Parts: sequence; C-alpha cells; structure tokens
Amino acid sequence: MAKGREKHQARLDAISLQGKDLARRAKRTCEFCEGRGDLRAVDGDENAEPSLETLALACERCRAVLDGRKDDERTLRFLETAIWNEEPVVARLAKQMLASVDADWARAALEMVS
Ligand SMILES: [Zn+2]
Repeated sequence: MAKGREKHQARLDAISLQGKDLARRAKRTCEFCEGRGDLRAVDGDENAEPSLETLALACERCRAVLDGRKDDERTLRFLETAIWNEEPVVARLAKQMLASVDADWARAALEMVS
C-alpha cells in the first residue's frame, strides 16, 4: 500500500518537473479551450514515463470533462478545433472528450478526424 503511494507520488513529481516546459508549449492557456482557469497537467498516458509527449495542460473545466463530467454541449464546440491540435496527446484527449458529447456536431467532427 505504502509502496503504491510512493510510486504515485514519484509520478506526480515527474509530471511537475515537466510543468514549466508544458506551460511554455501551451502558452499558459488550456490546450483544449484556451481558458486560463486553474491550469494543471493531465496525464495522457499512465503507462509511459511522463514527458511533453504524454502530458497536456488543461483548465479545471476541461479536466472535469475529461473525467467524464457532462457539460452543456453548446459550450464544448472548442473541441472541434482541439481535435486537430498539432500535439498528438492534445488531439487524442480532445477526441476522448468529444466522444462523450451527445450531439450531432460532435459525431460529425469525430467522423471527420478519424
Ligand atoms: Zn479548458
């Protein structure tokens, strides 16, 4: 149990080490919606060593959507752009968010990118 917690903490430390470079890449905005509210790194691949290739910077609201919180689909249209992000990890996570949106425009956008 303690071992698992140590491992978890080590991972959080490794992620926070990337924080500065990640913030620079993201220009200190959410990489999904360009918001600026409580930005934090999200882990795009829990099986890989944390790096800029596996992390994305997300605001509080986008992190909640990533966690599966339902939001008003009319306010999530930024995902149509985010799925084309030049950072593969951002594009992949945006697709994941879009897949949870129950709306015709979301399905059409996903179809276009896949
Ligand atoms: Zn956001």
